[in-house]
Amino acid sequence: MSKDKKQPKYIFVTGGVLSGVGKGITAASIGNILKARGLKVNIQKCDPYLNVDAGTLNPGEHGECFVTVDGAETDLDLGHYERFMDVELKRSSSLISGRLLSQVIADERAGKYLGKTVQIIPHVTNAIVENIERTAEGFDVHIVEIGGTTGDIEGLSFVEAIRELGVKVGPENASYVHVVYLPYLGASKEIKTKPAQNAVRELRGLGLVPDVLVARSEFAADEDVVSKLAMFSGVKKDAVILLPNASTIYEVPLTLENAGIGNVLTDSLHLDRSKANLTDWSKLVEKAADSSLREINIGIVAKYLNNEDTYMSVFEALTAAAWSQNCRARLHWVDAEKITAKNVEVKLSKYDAIVVPGGFGSRGVEGMILSAQYALKSKIPYYGICLGLQVAVIAAARNAGKKDAHTTEIDQSTSTPVISTMTDQIGKEATGGTMRLGNYDEHIVEGTKTAKVYGAKTVLERHRHRYECNNEYRDDYESWGIKVAATSPDQSLVEMIEAIDHPYFLAAQSHPEFNSRPNRPHAPFVGLIKAITGK
Ligand code: GLN
Repeated sequence: MSKDKKQPKYIFVTGGVLSGVGKGITAASIGNILKARGLKVNIQKCDPYLNVDAGTLNPGEHGECFVTVDGAETDLDLGHYERFMDVELKRSSSLISGRLLSQVIADERAGKYLGKTVQIIPHVTNAIVENIERTAEGFDVHIVEIGGTTGDIEGLSFVEAIRELGVKVGPENASYVHVVYLPYLGASKEIKTKPAQNAVRELRGLGLVPDVLVARSEFAADEDVVSKLAMFSGVKKDAVILLPNASTIYEVPLTLENAGIGNVLTDSLHLDRSKANLTDWSKLVEKAADSSLREINIGIVAKYLNNEDTYMSVFEALTAAAWSQNCRARLHWVDAEKITAKNVEVKLSKYDAIVVPGGFGSRGVEGMILSAQYALKSKIPYYGICLGLQVAVIAAARNAGKKDAHTTEIDQSTSTPVISTMTDQIGKEATGGTMRLGNYDEHIVEGTKTAKVYGAKTVLERHRHRYECNNEYRDDYESWGIKVAATSPDQSLVEMIEAIDHPYFLAAQSHPEFNSRPNRPHAPFVGLIKAITGK
């Protein structure tokens, strides 16, 4: 670090006992409360898996693939970070082993190691340290979350790297937060701390001493648990933070702040103990708990139903939009594969609105097309996202008698390819990272409902798709009852469509859900809720 550059403070977040207990939410919440203290905060997720990005991971298994403004396909934790911290992160906030190792190997091939034996320590660890330092540059605080559980073989190089970085910058510039889980034994009605104690021992064995212990549990634990954890983990009592299950994840920053984590961290990092301004955030949590909210029911027609995380940002965008209109969105997952022409009405007429989110491959697509056809005819409010736009165009074409209309993603020999491959994507169909990714400008067509909903002439939305509206059919849209509502600035790509004679039937080729924030729900989602409430 050169003398004129400010030394960022690091907060490293690791997890013990088991994964999936809210380490990402904890990291995001720490970001939230430090930002609320006026600090300039960045955040980064280190994922130990060997994929080069999250784009090729099965969302049913791994959850949503989040897309950054600069087009990185990342872990869904980045979505939590963006929503909790109200920031737009870059590719650099996602460090995945596969990408890092490809770089190290490319450097080896390029002779950059000058004949040295290339090893995990120091070459891979150095590359991690450099990457983290680069990402932290210019910020007061940089939070680094290590994916998985400490002790996992694939994560060891990250743990070693953050240990070394802590030594390098000194204790006043690095704090370690370990998130552990406290199981509850129903038979004896007690919360057990032994697995957490073992997890801390494991962490210490790797050379890391936690400054803060965040203890997750299903039920509220008492002070005895804090004393026990402090005694056996060597973490100061006021730095043992209990985090029982919350009714909404948005409560976590408040719980952590009330438990004093902000002061513990600022003290340990020699930062000023300023007060966090969490007024807006508290209002949001109050709204989430408000029992007088009007309940609305939205059917999400999709194929990945085995994992709630798959459509995380869509879920959050609809929830936030509903809150903004004093409603509570009840989201119902409708299995697209089970929808037939016969049962579509029975399955969908009970909902106040239908949403078809993004997706890839053929599974469930016929059910999604039937759902869009049904929404067009029944006038139920509809919002289509990416694949949800593509099936809407197919639905309109089929409603107008083009029975063979399809996307070439699924049917290459269709006589009516209303959705087809973008010219610059031909030949890249099967490879990772070759889609149209990240932010693109869009021009909204004047006089459309979409223009009213956005209240703007242009918009930047994030993309992740390979197929697009086939321009050969654009002139037919009006005869099919739909119209183009937004295009790329040069008008060569259709970005949004809407139905002509319909209370609310909008669809976007992009993923507007990534731009929604809990306190700033995004326009098309708010529009959908307003269409339901009749505002
Ligand atoms: N499979 C479609 C495409 O690649 C839609 C992608 C999506 O919904 N994200 O264009």
